[in-house]
Amino acid sequence: PYLDGGASAPAGVSLQGVDKRFGDFTAVRSLDLEVRSGEFFSMLGPSGSGKTTVLRMIAGFEQPTTGTIALGGKDVTNIAPFDREVNTVFQDYALFPHMTIAENVAYGLRVRRVSKSIRRERVQAALEQVRLGHVADRKPSQLSGGQRQRIALARALILQPRVLLLDEPLGALDKQLREQMQLELKQIQREIGITFIFVTHDQEEALTLSDRVAVFNEGRIEQIGTPTEVYERPATPFVAGFLGISNLLDAEVAKAVTGLDSLVSIRPERISLRTLDASISPDERSVVGTIDEVVYTGPSTRFVVIDETGMRLIAEVQNSGTSSTRHQFARGATVRAVWHKEHVAAVA
Ligand code: ATP
Repeated sequence: PYLDGGASAPAGVSLQGVDKRFGDFTAVRSLDLEVRSGEFFSMLGPSGSGKTTVLRMIAGFEQPTTGTIALGGKDVTNIAPFDREVNTVFQDYALFPHMTIAENVAYGLRVRRVSKSIRRERVQAALEQVRLGHVADRKPSQLSGGQRQRIALARALILQPRVLLLDEPLGALDKQLREQMQLELKQIQREIGITFIFVTHDQEEALTLSDRVAVFNEGRIEQIGTPTEVYERPATPFVAGFLGISNLLDAEVAKAVTGLDSLVSIRPERISLRTLDASISPDERSVVGTIDEVVYTGPSTRFVVIDETGMRLIAEVQNSGTSSTRHQFARGATVRAVWHKEHVAAVA
């Protein structure tokens, strides 16, 4: 039905009071979520946290046990997947090996009985959207992994959905190709302008791609925010720990060394190391300790510092900077670990 409408306009998605139970197991509980029209939204969380189940409910493959789902302001809770203005790209691409790329991409239009001339036109447009206009006559086996992934994207885009759902679409690619595809995916989304809802368990991927991120844990959302908000201002210990490395200090320690009276998180890259005689400003806080470990990671070096109470702090220092921290401090040295007070986030 939505094929007649010409170019697709982006739509927002709204979930209200959604629970999903499988037997007596609750996979998703009391979920409220507003995805804005045209945004690149990621659902991030460990395996089993419920993100795929939420995606499948938006697609219509699963029914919520309670609650409602709206698309572009219209309640679609009881609408069949086929009749929703959404489409899904899966990790395994699911391309038909015996069909050409053009036939694969045209498939959704053919089953909807769209005429051949319109099909041809739309296939070419969809292939160009993913920058693969020249491979129409090949078979899937003649394409690279990254190209196959883009064909899967074209096949979903040809139906002109208002919302595109992506379930770990880059999961099968190696690290280098994956990073390259992340940039492309972001670019394609910006050009097409429709809403993308992206499921991943990769923190870096979610931060790189998204306008906003929802962090899932055990069927609930722990925090929703921009990449900067969830990374720099984690709302819970889970978010602090799941998004990269974090120094978590309990309330008692935090009170002594930061002045805040709650559980706090300090990101390792916000901590620098200085010699004991170096000065610190009034807005900085610090502890003195011994370097217990030095780990070179390429772009940065990680130092583990232990103070006299046994508290461990991880400091991560860029190797490219003008300072030569990496050469200055070795294992066993006594140092001052310093951070600005603004970079302490209360997480309780
Ligand atoms: P992954 O990244 O591994 O896919 P996820 O965060 O997407 O994880 P879901 O696939 O949404 O997690 O699964 C959430 C929980 O619901 C899991 O414990 C899973 O075993 C359970 N679950 C999902 N689908 C079903 C089903 N059809 N029947 C029973 N349990 C299910």
